[in-house]
Amino acid sequence: MISFTSNRPLNDIARRCVRDDLTQLRLKYNPFYRNIENQKASHIWVDGREMIMLSNNDYLGLSEHPKVVQAGRDALRTWGSSSTGSRFANGSRSYHFELEEKLADFLGVEACLVSIAGYISCMAAVASFAERGDLILVDRNVHSSLWSGITLSGARVERFGHNNPADLQDILTSESHKTPKMLVIEGIYSMEGHLAKLPELLAVTSDHNCFIVIDDAHGFGVLGPEGRGSVAHFGATDQVDIIAGSMSKSLSSTGGYICGSRSLIEYLKSHSKQTIFSAALSPCQAACAQAALEVMQDEPEHRERLWMNTKRYHGLMKELGLDTWGSESPAVPIVLGSMERVYRFWKYLYEKGIFTVISIPPAVPPSKELVRTAISASHTGEDLDRIADAMAQAVKRV
Ligand code: PMP
Repeated sequence: MISFTSNRPLNDIARRCVRDDLTQLRLKYNPFYRNIENQKASHIWVDGREMIMLSNNDYLGLSEHPKVVQAGRDALRTWGSSSTGSRFANGSRSYHFELEEKLADFLGVEACLVSIAGYISCMAAVASFAERGDLILVDRNVHSSLWSGITLSGARVERFGHNNPADLQDILTSESHKTPKMLVIEGIYSMEGHLAKLPELLAVTSDHNCFIVIDDAHGFGVLGPEGRGSVAHFGATDQVDIIAGSMSKSLSSTGGYICGSRSLIEYLKSHSKQTIFSAALSPCQAACAQAALEVMQDEPEHRERLWMNTKRYHGLMKELGLDTWGSESPAVPIVLGSMERVYRFWKYLYEKGIFTVISIPPAVPPSKELVRTAISASHTGEDLDRIADAMAQAVKRV
């Protein structure tokens, strides 16, 4: 049981927390909330020891790019630390509008609204548009932020099999055309690394009065011409209503975005509680994201290196016979199928100086317990050699 220092008697809710199984398990294995003391590109220091980070979503490796860092410094000097208010009221600044214009332009849509987190934007992208009486059709493996939006919306929900257009088709056959519907999917699935079967899903929904929301947190900067994302990769921009995502991955900052037609984004500005009642994105984070967006376009070599590294890593996984759940992207799960195996694999890599992350149910379906890895443009050939050595040894130990 978790130790509890207060002398106050435990109330029921506090007792439930103190006895929580998930927390007991987390504290027993202790793989989470690790204190990273320092970082330099793909290397980090934990307990004074240098390690290779193999779980960041800094796909393009821009978080230490001189132009990105300088933009953050300049913004802090010019604007201070925060606009201390919501976009709706007193918090909108010209750097927000400028970033929104550039993001919308990059994704080939009319308008954009940024927020303080991808989680907030993805949640709002569902909760602001769907309402009671609507039907949400959702891939059962979508990110927690989208589930939060679904719950908040009050709409009826039907889950379809992960990336399974035939299953979606089956559900739709028994639904009335008159019911307003929303399809909720990801561009690249964060846990599995799968690319959405977007053309097939759009074909299935095209005659069904369906609003399309896609969370492209992991496709942005990674897929499509110049990294314009999964929707651009499939040439489907005009068939999708909303593209939402995070600026904490390829854009090496924090914050989220929701992009779409001007009329939808204006509607969002009136109805998104997450925007109206929450403070705006900070000047430093907005500036870093905007600089990264510019670097991405001016310096394609980062994306090229990302894919070169990704191909090499996928090759290594295959050689070692590891189950990567069919990942097609730099987000690469290593499915080991039990908590014990995952823990042993993770711990061995950790001892060998490779930092990865464990994912267990409910974050993944039962029997899909996995070690989550992600490749970055910042990994060097030498990093990948070290990773290959450690993985080859780890495989023998599970
Ligand atoms: N959507 C997906 C698919 C994600 O993977 C994440 C981040 N893990 C988010 C949304 C939330 O983004 P953020 O970290 O910026 O809150």
